[in-house]
Amino acid sequence: MSPRNLIVVLGDQLNRESTAFDHACRESDLVWMAEVAEESTHVWSHKARTVLFLSAMRHFAQSLRKEGWKLDYRALDDPSNAQSLAAELASAIQRHRPQKIVMVQAGDYRVQQALQQTAAAFNCPLEIREDRHFLCSLAWFRHYAAERKQLRLEFFYREMRRQHGILLHDGQPAGGRWNYDAANREAFSSTGPPFLSPPRSFPPDTVTRQVMALVEKQFPNHPGSLNHFDFPVTAQQAEQALDDFIEKRLPLFGRYQDAMWTGEPYLFHSRLSAALNLKLLAPRQVIQVAEKALDHGHAPVESVEGFIRQILGWREYVRGIYWTFMPEYAQRNALQAQLPLPRFYWTGETEYRCLGEVIRQTLDYGFAHHIQRLMVTGLYALLLGVIPQQIHEWYLAVYVDAVEWVELPNVIGMSQFADGGLMASKPYAATGKYIQRMSNYCAGCRFDPLQATGPKACPFTTLYWDFLMRNRDRLRRIPRMELQLRNLARLSTSDRAAIRRQAELVKLSG
Ligand SMILES: Cc1cc2nc3c(=O)[nH]c(=O)nc-3n(C[C@H](O)[C@H](O)[C@H](O)COP(=O)(O)OP(=O)(O)OC[C@H]3O[C@@H](n4cnc5c(N)ncnc54)[C@H](O)[C@@H]3O)c2cc1C
Ligand code: SF4
Repeated sequence: MSPRNLIVVLGDQLNRESTAFDHACRESDLVWMAEVAEESTHVWSHKARTVLFLSAMRHFAQSLRKEGWKLDYRALDDPSNAQSLAAELASAIQRHRPQKIVMVQAGDYRVQQALQQTAAAFNCPLEIREDRHFLCSLAWFRHYAAERKQLRLEFFYREMRRQHGILLHDGQPAGGRWNYDAANREAFSSTGPPFLSPPRSFPPDTVTRQVMALVEKQFPNHPGSLNHFDFPVTAQQAEQALDDFIEKRLPLFGRYQDAMWTGEPYLFHSRLSAALNLKLLAPRQVIQVAEKALDHGHAPVESVEGFIRQILGWREYVRGIYWTFMPEYAQRNALQAQLPLPRFYWTGETEYRCLGEVIRQTLDYGFAHHIQRLMVTGLYALLLGVIPQQIHEWYLAVYVDAVEWVELPNVIGMSQFADGGLMASKPYAATGKYIQRMSNYCAGCRFDPLQATGPKACPFTTLYWDFLMRNRDRLRRIPRMELQLRNLARLSTSDRAAIRRQAELVKLSG
């Protein structure tokens, strides 16, 4: 008999509380899940990213079966797998002839379009439901954005705090300030991080090991290693990872949020992004336990506020931007950047110590923390002038937490300023001195962050001045760039010419 509803569950929708299951019935509905190669090949995905999605999907499917749900689950190595979500949905519609398809909004515009077109081609009604995982509805964000001349995280974040009553005491911000950003920028001393408890590890179980073997077989030439794979792949593990973070690392999260250190991929960060994005973990729950840590005096306000700002602020903000401005947002290139992505982004083989460290770590773990992404790999691409769509595809490919709704605005908007300031108030442009201050990378590098020209010139410092010169007319319109442009004006004509020549050498070497 045809099912009443075909319930679509995508790889980043692994949550039983999802609206897709509202009013669902085990007897008359059928859950549909598909592992397809296209999701690993449309960008050249890191093996760990594919393993994480497939393993978490298989674990979720197991739990649904235990609950008595009927499932149509297509495995990646099923000989009849058509290897794209659209083709697989088409085949499921033909096989089952459901009365209706029900799904929650996808995390990727491309996927949403493909599934909608498939349902329409078969004249099968498709109901797309709001994703209640998020605290801000898309309709509310669109309205909010339409009413404003300019979007800024800080005001959106305050509005979210008020709406949801988070970190408020009698209507006032906890601790007296809305934002403790200034207390989130401490670097480590020369001896490195204080005692650090690594994130809780989840060694691969049988299901994950099978998926790892499958991925090695199907995608042998894809980037990245599986040697360190220990991410949570079930809701239960995600909760254990959250508890571990709150207990051991949240107290110093705020203080060292921006710091970097050789050989330490996680530091005081939560490593919860992938679990959140796959919906193994609910942001409300994460925020609640962080708030409790403040109330119980376990963590200081700069840590709890700094952490909640990322989830209630940035995470919701970038999602609103993505769905409000797609599809044209993905094509933006406000600074008219023209260069291809350097090849070493796929190997880590470069003399530039900071980039080598962060890229090799990315390939080894499928992870880098925020400042490594923003102020090392992102900064270099911005200063060099890499085509935004190429660096976007790299970020979408290499991180285990990469889903387009969150990755794209972070790259196009925050990191590359390719949206011309829609998301951020100024480009995150800096010299190598920033990296020197926030890490120990420069200590082992043959270049000198203080020098913009000459054989020891740091490429970040050279390219920083070149970036300001190249984009001076565009940046003049940005009030927060005034100081940087004034410093540029102080450089002599001959210094500028020497920097331009040096920048050309850096560009030639990639
Ligand atoms: C160029 C670039 C690309 C990025 N791509 C992704 C991506 O593909 N997927 C992704 O989840 N995050 C992305 N981020 C945001 C951020 O770097 C990661 O969420 C974070 O590093 C994940 O590590 P964590 O879980 O330890 O985060 P923490 O530092 O512990 O932060 C807590 C949580 O806050 C959320 N968060 C933090 N910063 C952001 C942000 N800027 N935007 C949205 N959510 C945020 C995440 O869910 C994260 O788990 C990107 C940032 C940049 C600059
Ligand atoms: S000197 Fe420049 S290239 Fe070398 S590690 Fe420091 S910032 Fe990176």
